[in-house]
Amino acid sequence: MKRIHFDIDTQFDFLAAAGALAVPGAAALLPRLARLNASAPLVVSTMCAHTEDDAEFRQWPPHCVLGTLGQRKPAALLVEPRVTLPPDITPLPDLGGARQILLEKRALDLFTNPNLEALLAALGADEYAVYGVVTEYCVRLAAMGLLRTGKPVHLVTDAIQTLDREDGERAVAEFHAAGGKLTTAAALLASVQI
Ligand SMILES: [Zn+2]
Repeated sequence: MKRIHFDIDTQFDFLAAAGALAVPGAAALLPRLARLNASAPLVVSTMCAHTEDDAEFRQWPPHCVLGTLGQRKPAALLVEPRVTLPPDITPLPDLGGARQILLEKRALDLFTNPNLEALLAALGADEYAVYGVVTEYCVRLAAMGLLRTGKPVHLVTDAIQTLDREDGERAVAEFHAAGGKLTTAAALLASVQI
């Protein structure tokens, strides 16, 4: 059973209290997120990677601009060796022995990275686990998009954080109703992975 983790947008601008788009409560998840990333045979970490005038900033305050500290991930969430997939169209590079793939994106939906479909095909996972921020936006798009691939998807409900509690609960309910599985970090880490 090959389970690949999707660690969604756990960047300083979302996690840190002083971040450009700070998500209240997200910083407290850091130790759990670190354990989840470290335990995975492979973790795909999505990263907002914006230019200074990205279209997304018409709806959201500027955040995760390339070259800024806020765009980076805490060291505790990094795994070696890793490969970065930029948001532009590129052929999928040789992944080598990567244990972490930084999947950059310029929009909420990770599937806007044109490398993602080829990446999923190359990885050949049996199932996915999804966690990170924000539940009702990027986490929801990741969980629902991965569910559409037909593989089982586990949402780690104690390793996500919401901006609006009701919207977050609605997103989790939508995912569950569509066939997604709900789990906790402890249960996921305790289950066998080969
Ligand atoms: Zn963004």
